[in-house]
Amino acid sequence: MKHLVDKLEENHELTRDEWVRLISSYGDEDLREYAASRAREASTAIFGKNIYFRGIIEYTNFCRNDCYYCGLRLSAPDTTRYRLTPEQIMDCADEGYRLGYRTIVLQGGETAYFEAKNGKRMVDIVRAIKTKYSDVAITLSMGEMKHEVYQALFDAGADRYLLRHETASADHYKKLHPEKMSFDNRMACLQKLRDIGFQAGPGMMIGSPGQGAEELAEDMLFISRFEPHMVGMGPFQPHHATPFHDQPSGSVELTLFIVSLVRLLRPKLLLPATTALDCDVNDGRQRAILAGANVIMPNLSPEGLKKNYLLYDNKPGITQSAEENLVKLRSLVEEIGYTMVVGRGDHPDRVKEGV
Ligand code: SAH
Ligand code: SF4
Repeated sequence: MKHLVDKLEENHELTRDEWVRLISSYGDEDLREYAASRAREASTAIFGKNIYFRGIIEYTNFCRNDCYYCGLRLSAPDTTRYRLTPEQIMDCADEGYRLGYRTIVLQGGETAYFEAKNGKRMVDIVRAIKTKYSDVAITLSMGEMKHEVYQALFDAGADRYLLRHETASADHYKKLHPEKMSFDNRMACLQKLRDIGFQAGPGMMIGSPGQGAEELAEDMLFISRFEPHMVGMGPFQPHHATPFHDQPSGSVELTLFIVSLVRLLRPKLLLPATTALDCDVNDGRQRAILAGANVIMPNLSPEGLKKNYLLYDNKPGITQSAEENLVKLRSLVEEIGYTMVVGRGDHPDRVKEGV
């Protein structure tokens, strides 16, 4: 199968059938190591040994959706809900700036509260942060919103938007979400975000229930078509209060293999080493960097509230302060010979365009 890794590296595309064959071979350790070394080289050729750090503020855990996998889902019975005030969010951003972050990620459950009045509540927060810190990039991850809201947020200065598509197979999407959530709307939102001018980040859980090599092949074809700026991927992790509580977690090895293949597919992508990689092991994020990832997202949420933002069980780092979390992750990165960068860390094409 190494010839398919070579072909991917050379042509930046594979056929559906080739994807299925390559992904199905992930049990072959030698192949995974080969893909990781090619991907690591591809990443280093563009980004050097630099890792972009983003500080993530989990501004609310209220959510109107009922995704079957997520601990923040509307029906999760024992989630203590919170919403940060604009002042609390600014305090986290201040702390982030002091610690050296130049990208702030605002992530939360999907709520009418932040969608109402054309997104005014979040628009004001984005504007306030951008006014105070003109050299900071803002990434939003607040779910499916009306398109006017996306436009207002972009106009207020937001730079990037993470909205994982979760799976590029409409049938598989139905297995992960209740009837009233729409695959078509999620895809339309992603397209809109891209059209508006956001650096757009779809992505998928690896090893989610019902996912096999065919579904992952669809994801790869989708990434080729959509041309995202970022792709967020982490293993599915069960949460005790969801319909998927007894499903096995996604494989770290498969996740790392897919990270490598996505790096080879589109070498310039911003690819995070995600937190979910460190639920079952303690070197998952390090190994993701060695498999081609170039972004890491330490937690800037207020101490005491982190334990309430649990998309899945066993989330690491929830008892650490923002500073401790950063110090820990920086040392993990340095241990393997990489450097944390202070800077916005835009997609290389955006840097070129000067936007
Ligand atoms: N509400 C927003 C942002 C928060 S959820 C949204 O849904 O877009 C961010 C991501 O966390 C989701 O897209 C999903 O891919 C991931 N996630 C949720 N539950 C998870 C779980 N149990 N295991 C792994 N990842 C999960
Ligand atoms: Fe809500 Fe996002 Fe969790 Fe779905 S994945 S329940 S939209 S927070």
